[in-house]
Amino acid sequence: RGALVWFRRDLRAFDHAALHHALLAGAPVFCTFVFDGPILDGLPRDDRRVAFIHASLAELATELEALGGHLIVRHGDARREIPALAAELDVAAVYANEDYDPAAIARDSAVGESLAAAGRTLALFKDHVIFARSEVLSQAGKPLGVFTPYKNAWKKRLEAQPDALAPWSIEPHTAAFAPGRSQLLALQDIGFDGTDLSAVGIAPGMAGGAALFEAFQPHLAGYGTERDYPARDGTSHLSLHLRFGTVSIRHLVRTVLQLSERGQAGEGGATWLSELVWRDFYQMILFHNPHVVHASFKPLYDKVDWETGPAADALFAAWCDGRTGYPLVDAAMVQLNTTGFMHNRLRMVTASFLCKDLGIDWKRGEAYFALKLNDYELASNNGGWQWAASSGCDAQPFFRIFNPVTQSERFDRDGEFIRHYLPQLRQLSPKEIHAPWLNGGADGYPAPIVDHAEARQRTLERFEVVKARG
Ligand code: FAD
Repeated sequence: RGALVWFRRDLRAFDHAALHHALLAGAPVFCTFVFDGPILDGLPRDDRRVAFIHASLAELATELEALGGHLIVRHGDARREIPALAAELDVAAVYANEDYDPAAIARDSAVGESLAAAGRTLALFKDHVIFARSEVLSQAGKPLGVFTPYKNAWKKRLEAQPDALAPWSIEPHTAAFAPGRSQLLALQDIGFDGTDLSAVGIAPGMAGGAALFEAFQPHLAGYGTERDYPARDGTSHLSLHLRFGTVSIRHLVRTVLQLSERGQAGEGGATWLSELVWRDFYQMILFHNPHVVHASFKPLYDKVDWETGPAADALFAAWCDGRTGYPLVDAAMVQLNTTGFMHNRLRMVTASFLCKDLGIDWKRGEAYFALKLNDYELASNNGGWQWAASSGCDAQPFFRIFNPVTQSERFDRDGEFIRHYLPQLRQLSPKEIHAPWLNGGADGYPAPIVDHAEARQRTLERFEVVKARG
């Protein structure tokens, strides 16, 4: 009776596990995407991620039509929309790719129940990561909580199972597609406005992802040294495409390994592959520890007494707006607020500053990043924040506290990144720009809202509770 493929965070028409399996199961195969009301409701009307999805769907529809199928786009609560569409099309099963976010797991189980009540099935497939759930375990058969042993076990598993990188073929099976005209929705139909995607340099869809990866490959060999300097922009910017599946993780890993074999990826290739393994790692951590969504990975760290009340709220607002008086932190926040991207080094610096200089709960920062980051992904964002706050698995120890001035001197030595985002500091020399207050300050730029040395001391005291018990 055919199948319905439900696209979610996998907006591509190649190397797609659910689509592959649906096409093999038999005709006719329909395709759908639902703009999920409960997710959209909390977002600003000019949200770049919604615009990215919208543009990527137009491309996906064209691609599916070229292959003989079509795309039906709906808006509503997916818990109702998917079973209703499955009934309308009278398919036997809905096919989708797994999503390890606890809210998505709950949604999928509700959809699965509704479908089952009508005699249909929901079939889910691993697609978004190389290894999921319990595929990579310790020698004792337990989920790992430390990255390096996880990475080693991940690599071993890949050696033993190289077909984990094999693409899920689509082209040979396209006869099963149900032909038809795509039904798309305008952004306005779902209550959203256009945004500045192209102005901030984002090309959506499979074409955008492929072009970005192509452009990054010559820089792969230098990634290990370049990736830490925000002004040099030595990273791939593929996170947004990985988030929405407009690139295939298998294709990325295969390509890096091939380039490495040919001696074209250097040290940088191995480091970049490690970053992709971090992504699998945090997905696995979230799957096995869903409590991290609301609490510390290590429960003891929930005892840490964060600053609250109006004074803390004012400090938080200054952090959000980029008004802390620490140029690297402020430039990073302006980058986030104006482009929706923030360089990884700066995510670590700004997160550390919020928790360890301002004494504010990492969950507030996590929520702010979730709102602002184009590449927002619960697993990696939560993992990154809990790393910075020391409450996470394999986290920064609590007594390691980034000095925002030293970080600035090391990673933006000439102040190039700072000058780009904070024009009011353009006149300062490379020597002055990291700590303007030491040189009489700069017009239109605030004095530091905390003294780092004092804040550091307070943080060590704040975390005593962990030491006393740990
Ligand atoms: P590249 O350096 O080119 O890396 C390639 C890919 O590897 C990335 O696209 C990403 O998918 C993955 N990756 C790289 N670093 C990490 C990491 N530390 N953890 C997990 N995956 C990684 N990444 C997100 O995708 N979404 C988030 O919401 C997110 N929030 C973060 C919050 C904090 C506080 C921190 C410290 C890190 C966060 N990261 C997040 C991880 C990392 O900063 C971004 O993935 C990276 O900056 C994206 O840029 P890129 O694509 O150019 O990365």
